[in-house]
Amino acid sequence: MYDPLVHDFPSSQQPHARSYWQAHTATNFPNAATALPERTDIVVIGAGYTGLNAALELAKHYQQNVVLVDANQLGWGCSTRNAGFAMPGTGRLSLADWQKRCGAATAQAIYNEYQAAFARLEAHLQACPQQLEVQRGGYLKVAHRLQAVPALQRSLEQLQQFEPDARWLDSSQTQQRVNTPQAYGAIHYPNSFGLNPLLLTASLARQCQQAGVTLVEGAAVMHWERHEQRHRLHTSKGKITAAKVVVATNGYTSNQLHPSLQGRTLPVLSSVIVTRPLTSDERRSIGLQGNELVMDTRVLKYYYRLLPDGRLLFGGRGAIRGKDAQHPRYARHLLEALAGTFPSLQALAKTPVDYYWSGWISVALDNYPRIYSPADSIYTSMGYCGSGVTFSQLAGQRLAQLTMGEKLPELPFYQSPLAKFPLPSLRRLGQWGFYQLARWRRL
Ligand SMILES: Cc1cc2nc3c(=O)[nH]c(=O)nc-3n(C[C@H](O)[C@H](O)[C@H](O)COP(=O)(O)OP(=O)(O)OC[C@H]3O[C@@H](n4cnc5c(N)ncnc54)[C@H](O)[C@@H]3O)c2cc1C
Repeated sequence: MYDPLVHDFPSSQQPHARSYWQAHTATNFPNAATALPERTDIVVIGAGYTGLNAALELAKHYQQNVVLVDANQLGWGCSTRNAGFAMPGTGRLSLADWQKRCGAATAQAIYNEYQAAFARLEAHLQACPQQLEVQRGGYLKVAHRLQAVPALQRSLEQLQQFEPDARWLDSSQTQQRVNTPQAYGAIHYPNSFGLNPLLLTASLARQCQQAGVTLVEGAAVMHWERHEQRHRLHTSKGKITAAKVVVATNGYTSNQLHPSLQGRTLPVLSSVIVTRPLTSDERRSIGLQGNELVMDTRVLKYYYRLLPDGRLLFGGRGAIRGKDAQHPRYARHLLEALAGTFPSLQALAKTPVDYYWSGWISVALDNYPRIYSPADSIYTSMGYCGSGVTFSQLAGQRLAQLTMGEKLPELPFYQSPLAKFPLPSLRRLGQWGFYQLARWRRL
């Protein structure tokens, strides 16, 4: 599997990953252009949610000539592989963390930003004939052990200043929603929902095409140079020059793409298994409501949801290196975690899963993303730390505004570059150490 810390660029012409979404979704992607234009105003690299939203805004609201290139099929990265949890926020900092760091006014403004991201996602949902196969039931953040309860309760108290509808479920109320020995209480966020990520990508791609964006698949950017005040990109489909470049490659950004981006994020594999459809007895035994999303309080979180056809999707961390991503032991780890979460599914957890896949999320050193200009006439948005389905819809819009020279709101996401990792070549070693520690201390 492509590994951003090992390979110079993704190999091109690859279809979407073999996932539950890919196998069960009738999509209607627009036809991509057959040839790469030689010249344009703006090239956007990466056709996931960030790149598609940025390109859409640049073409529709700023009437720019935009070419959107992806190494592979449109949305080949995380945007067609995620679990489809549409949740408030991004990164790993809660509103309570933001309030502690920057005060109540900034935390409120960040909350408003998250609501704007939701509003944009709702508009995309309306633009999709299948309404993204949305499952509205909210999201449960579950204390996976007793010691996690006080901190979770404290975070709810602060959260309710911004989100009065969020509420506490005690242990027995939680058990009625999700019958697991690993739930001691939970916060219920009523506004979150589940969606089909592939439908979202296809809907965005159609909107882009209608707005006049030239969509080019199978065009991996392999080399980048400056030429007469313009950027010249050498891709696997030929050369293109542009006045400005938007980099929307996020967790798939190779170390070699551009020097200004080296060492600024840690690409981390997140993996998902999907079981066969559960029987009605199995569904009863786990108690999970059909439309609810669940994530736990572990540092290395597990998350799960029932899919519209009654299968259970269960996700968590994957391998460290791309070359290990498909090794069966990582699917087995997730199955063991599933069996620990739902002992009544022990037998199911001993059988092979129907689907297993992984993707690269991008982790920022200080746990929150940045939208900024890393070098002259280059713009980027990266570092969602695995939480980008909702936020990337707005991030793409903000990225377009920045590209057009507009001032962005005075929020931490928009005020500084991504911090460089100290000793970037040791990022993987640090990650391995962190995984060992988390396992040993049962975090
Ligand atoms: C298994 C998994 C589950 C997840 N679940 C959730 C979830 O439930 N909720 C949530 O909020 N977030 C989730 N995420 C994270 C979320 O999917 C991402 O934050 C989001 O999709 C990022 O979108 P993006 O457009 O920024 O990047 P991507 O969608 O990753 O797009 C980057 C694109 O850049 C292209 N590219 C890279 N290099 C080049 C190059 N040199 N030339 C041309 N193209 C290039 C790639 O082909 C790729 O298509 C999950 C991620 C994974 C992997």
